[in-house]
Amino acid sequence: MRADRPEAPLRKLMGPGPLDVHPRIYSALTSPVIGHLDPAYLKVLDRIGALLRPVFGTQNRVTHATPGTGTSGMEACVANLMEPGDRVLVCVHGYFGDRIRQMAQRQEAEVTLVETEWGRPTDATRVAEALKDGGYKVLTLVHAETSTGVLQPMDEIAELAKAHGTMILLDTVTSLGGIEVNVDEWGVDAGYSCSQKCIGAPSGLAPVTFSDRAVDVAANRKHPVRSWYLDISLLDQYWGPERVYHHTSSSTLNYALLEALLLMEEEGLQNRLARHLKNHEALVAGVEAMGLEMLVAPEHRLPTLNTVRIPEGVDDARVRGYLLETFGLEIGGGLGALKGQVWRVGLMGYSSSAENVLFFLSAMSRALADQGQVMDVEAGLEAAMLVLNA
Ligand SMILES: *Cc1c(COP(=O)(O)O)cnc(C)c1O
Repeated sequence: MRADRPEAPLRKLMGPGPLDVHPRIYSALTSPVIGHLDPAYLKVLDRIGALLRPVFGTQNRVTHATPGTGTSGMEACVANLMEPGDRVLVCVHGYFGDRIRQMAQRQEAEVTLVETEWGRPTDATRVAEALKDGGYKVLTLVHAETSTGVLQPMDEIAELAKAHGTMILLDTVTSLGGIEVNVDEWGVDAGYSCSQKCIGAPSGLAPVTFSDRAVDVAANRKHPVRSWYLDISLLDQYWGPERVYHHTSSSTLNYALLEALLLMEEEGLQNRLARHLKNHEALVAGVEAMGLEMLVAPEHRLPTLNTVRIPEGVDDARVRGYLLETFGLEIGGGLGALKGQVWRVGLMGYSSSAENVLFFLSAMSRALADQGQVMDVEAGLEAAMLVLNA
């Protein structure tokens, strides 16, 4: 080993992403690099589309993985559906809803905001009120807001958008593969996610799905899509039957994504969603019995990302530093308005396990003890075990 080569330490990843990667996915990452038009590789792309459809809850033909991280999926959806002067309704109840707002403004769409205090979902009655003005082309929403740990209820807002003929653009980055997503039932026209959260692969790909209506809208714009790279009509010439070169698709990342989706299929989607829910409930029971508090009301909590309030007088950075140095454990700090107020504990994909729940509770109690805060860790472990054994 060369002394000047920095080595990647082995971590336990329990933050907002990336999460731990299954050994079978690491093996897939060592697949030989092959060409992006190799017939063997084109089969891999088709299989990825076929495996993604049930996870998104859709029959959409255009269901694929764009190159780049979740943000590239976001940009693909925004850039294809919005053009200058389009009226769009952007719901913001956290950091990522605001990122969609920024992108919509860069497309020179005419943005109307429905803003909600961080820690709560967007209220359907406020969306109903805003939609009364009429004429909105797109409504944007974040299903699982990773900055706050809030799950957005979808049914009512989906009905409202349908009634107004408004397209829905949905961020499913922290839900896809961990929480039920029903693109077709909700009438979502453009949805996106990423490879490194509940799907459990490394970052670098963004699953997306576009309804036929959205594909049509993108193909019949007044102005060409302002991103050449993410123009869905051009991407579809490569993904679809034409197989025209568009970019040098990463076979390495796509083999890893395929393996992750095969693992998901083997586990069974419903079993996987149930696992995420159970481990989340165990973590919450443990956290609360130990003497800590959750940020979000019980009915709005995400099973995949837990926001735990930082107790008064505790040094946030020192706790996270202690966890990383002492136990190799990574959790997330607060983003934006919640910086310094919460920790973000991810239970996604391979990282959503009983052992990780117990490990987190024990490690956190040591990190707090290091600052003189004594938690009832025994009660925490007991409460978590009760849920896990139920
Ligand atoms: C992580 C995340 C993104 C951005 O994904 P990247 O892979 O970091 O680009 C977008 N939306 C939500 C809700 C996220 O959690």
